[in-house]
Amino acid sequence: MSDLELVLRAPRAVIGAGETGACIGVRNGRIATVAPLSARLDGARIVELAADEVLLPGLVDSHVHVNEPGRTEWEGFASATRAAAAGGVTTILDMPLNSIPPTVDVAALETKKKAADGKCHIDVGFWGGAVPGNLSDLHALHEAGVFGFKCFLLDSGVEEFPPLSAAELEEHLRELAGFDGLMIVHAEDPVVIEQAPEPHGGRYADFLRSRPRTAEDRAIATVVEATRRTGARTHVLHLSSSDGVPLLRDARGEGLPITVETCPHYLTFDAEDVVDGATAFKCCPPIREAANRELLWQALTEGVIDCVVSDHSPCTAELKRPDVGDFGLAWGGISSLQLGLTAVWTEARARGYALSDVVRWMCEQPARVAGLRTKGRLAVGADADFCVFAPDESFVVDPAQLQHRNPVTPYAGRRLDGVVRSTWLRGAAIDIDAEPRGRFLTRGGA
Ligand SMILES: [Zn+2]
Repeated sequence: MSDLELVLRAPRAVIGAGETGACIGVRNGRIATVAPLSARLDGARIVELAADEVLLPGLVDSHVHVNEPGRTEWEGFASATRAAAAGGVTTILDMPLNSIPPTVDVAALETKKKAADGKCHIDVGFWGGAVPGNLSDLHALHEAGVFGFKCFLLDSGVEEFPPLSAAELEEHLRELAGFDGLMIVHAEDPVVIEQAPEPHGGRYADFLRSRPRTAEDRAIATVVEATRRTGARTHVLHLSSSDGVPLLRDARGEGLPITVETCPHYLTFDAEDVVDGATAFKCCPPIREAANRELLWQALTEGVIDCVVSDHSPCTAELKRPDVGDFGLAWGGISSLQLGLTAVWTEARARGYALSDVVRWMCEQPARVAGLRTKGRLAVGADADFCVFAPDESFVVDPAQLQHRNPVTPYAGRRLDGVVRSTWLRGAAIDIDAEPRGRFLTRGGA
């Protein structure tokens, strides 16, 4: 008689670098056994996956703006984690800004945890923030379990989260290097953006000109240089400019501890196709040209880009200014927590990639970058977090079907490949209408 509480029998499962048939045995919410399908493991509960389903690890989305407390009308922990669960995501890491207060000291972290308590359908961890004047708060936040620190090098869009100057960046990195902390950076250069034409009106081409590639490229150079001088670990958020790739490739070749992410929208859309006035597509850095997008795919293949995470950055529908369709006035940010897996899979399969590639970019690597040791893979000892995915089914995105608080999305009406049939957290299927079971995660914690 087996003491496994659950056995998943999957004719197809993404394990390690490939796909295979497998029996996954679960004990105490963790993966206890990974055996061949032919082993026919026994347990208290047996779940047989259908022939058209593939078992994936639950996705790890390390770039999510939940906004609660303070801007809960933009998004909150209940709605964000429902959206995540509906999209196969079992872990999110919440960004320190757009909530009020921003997570720049331990008191603010406690305020945020209190706001999130009892509302999370999936596991949630937190990033801290690095802002001018909070140097002395960083170590305490690190000890309190944040996964690292986010900073901006230019205006963040909200006044309570000011940017670091290049000198402050270096100062903060020296502090982080003292305890092996990780700095995650919104890399756009303030001077380049200041010198670019102001964004205004409904033409996407004008908006694109206001956020040129050189702004990203110069900021990445600043980060590389500061990493080299301080030895601190850094991570470039939401890479959009493919011109930044050679610099990052060289930095990594040199052995600098720099990692890189991009987002589903940069891999899906292109500037040539954005309709004027369609502010649902506004985000910073912006969606660029089709040729740029293909170079981002190449950088993923090459491994210069480590991971693909959503940068789920919602606001109210009104703040997207659909009344005027003005790219200068609209809030920048794309909500895709629920759609990331299917969006990336749609584009990946069209380019000949396998599901195991998507798992590497959206499960394994985000977990590795953030230091989430029990997440992002189907392996003994990992949490029994699963996404049951039907890769050959497709659907048309209907905003009304999204769990985000404000279902504004540039994916509306688009056909995406793959359907999430169920999402499992620590050995049990998530029911988004039931009592939430998510836990808070801390850096290095179990
Ligand atoms: Zn963001």
